[in-house]
Formats: sequence, C-alpha cells, structure tokens
Amino acid sequence: RTVYVNGEYLPEHEAKVSVFDRGFLMADGVYEVTSVLGGKLIDFEGHATRLARSLSELQIRKPMEDEALLEIHRELVARNGIEEGLIYLQITRGAPNDRDFMFPPEETEPTVVLFTQSKLGLAESPAAKTGIKVISIPDIRWGRRDIKTVQLLYPSMGKMMAKAAGADDAWMVEHDHVTEGTSNNAYIVKGDTIITRQLSHEILHGITRAAVLRFAREAQMKVEERAFSIEEAKQADEAFITSASTFVMPVVEIDGVSVGRGTPGPVAARLREIYIEESRKAGI
Ligand code: PLP
Repeated sequence: RTVYVNGEYLPEHEAKVSVFDRGFLMADGVYEVTSVLGGKLIDFEGHATRLARSLSELQIRKPMEDEALLEIHRELVARNGIEEGLIYLQITRGAPNDRDFMFPPEETEPTVVLFTQSKLGLAESPAAKTGIKVISIPDIRWGRRDIKTVQLLYPSMGKMMAKAAGADDAWMVEHDHVTEGTSNNAYIVKGDTIITRQLSHEILHGITRAAVLRFAREAQMKVEERAFSIEEAKQADEAFITSASTFVMPVVEIDGVSVGRGTPGPVAARLREIYIEESRKAGI
C-alpha cells in the first residue's frame, strides 16, 4: 500500500512520524474518513468542510487548500486501485522537538497522513441484510464531540464492551438520552417519522447524517431532530445508524431487546438504497 505522509507518497513500511508528534503524545489531532464507491469519493466537500472546522476550533493551521487535499485523495485511490473502500486522513499539530503541554511555535508544520483501506462489500454489505445489535453504555467522552479529534479510546473500549456482550456496537447515553454510536449517528423510526438527535457540541455532525436527512426530506419522509431515550428506542418501529463506513445500517436489537420485528425495517432499507444510489451519482 502506498501512503501519503507530509508531502511524500511512500510504501507503508517507510512512512514514519516523530515520537514527539502531538498526535501520538496528546491525541492533539483531527481526522476524517471518506468512502469510495466505484473509484469515486463520496461527499468529499462535506468532509473537507468539517475538517477545516475541526482544525479551526483547535487552532491547528490548515496545511493546504481543499483542491490539494482532493488531489492527494485521488492519487491514493489511483495508486492503490481502490474501487470500494475508505480513505483515512489525519492532521495533527505536528512534532515540536520536545514534549510540552503548551502549543508549539506557529511555524511548526502540522503532520498530514492519509492512507486507503480497500473494503469490497461496503455497498453490498451482508450486515445490512441482517442488521446489527447494539448495547447501551454511558457517554463519558469530553464535551466537544463536534470536533472530530483522534481521541478514540472510549469509543474503542465501547466496541470491545459490545463484542464482549455479543453485540456489534454501542450507543452512548448521557442524561438518559442517546447521544450517538461509538462511530456513527443514531436514529429511530416511529410510524412514518425518522428521529435523530439535534446537532450540538454533544455529537459529531455526521456528513452521512446530513446527506441522509436531506434525501429523507426530498422523499417527503418526516424528520424530527430531537433526543430520544434507550427505552423509547427499544419500543420504536425501527432503528439504524449512519456513517461514512456503514452508510445506513439497520439496528435490530438494543440491550437484548428486539426492535420492531427484530429484522431490518423498510425505512432504513429505503434510505440505504437512496443514499448509495445518490452517492454513486454525485461521487467525484
Ligand atoms: N459520530 C461519531 C462519534 C463518529 O465517529 C462518526 C464517524 O466516524 C459519526 C458520528 C458519523 O460521521 P460521518 O457520517 O461523517 O462518517
């Protein structure tokens, strides 16, 4: 695999960053994951816009224009022959010459790393046909979840807790309401209404969420942006998640309780179909 690191395309075993990198020492960095369908980038503009916002909120210098970023994405897709998969991008505050809590001097170059992950079956995912099971766990993350930082220890632990419980993922709960999944936004369906938490500092503003809600509204489906509890979710007709790596994925069980009939529901299935179809058309 060819990876990109600080201006160079290198074989993955030759790609290196400093031990003093702020990303490594302090999780002082942000990331994006963009999907590739049919060799095309899905929602690149949305990811580039959110990246710029994450950087700006943390006062990390934006290392290049979106056009240059797009070129790197495309170059990696071409060099690695990615038909279907993901592109991971990470930008950190860079590597000063020592460990220090204080931000390094202005002139410190941000570290930029991108690599691809080939994932055939992203669109024709078997999990989308059976649905996934989630457990609920307390949300103990920091208060700026709208910034896509690389602090993923708790989400990673959440996925391990889910696995230990025989489930696939975890929904996080704060003040009795679901915030989001460990790496995705959470939804329920009641009657003909799609319900998902409103945007705030408490959740990541999913790029897939924005697209799916737009498609839902265009298809005259009802959307309610509000918080919901795990109890309400268990009694819903359907549940699902969205993210760049899962698109729209049905949730059929929450804490061991079947949602609806315990099989993927029609709303999630339809939204998945629309999302994939429209994304294929709009990919660049
Ligand atoms: N929420 C969290 C905590 C995430 O980590 C992610 C994606 O990684 C999402 C939501 C979904 O965001 P997107 O649709 O932009 O992939």
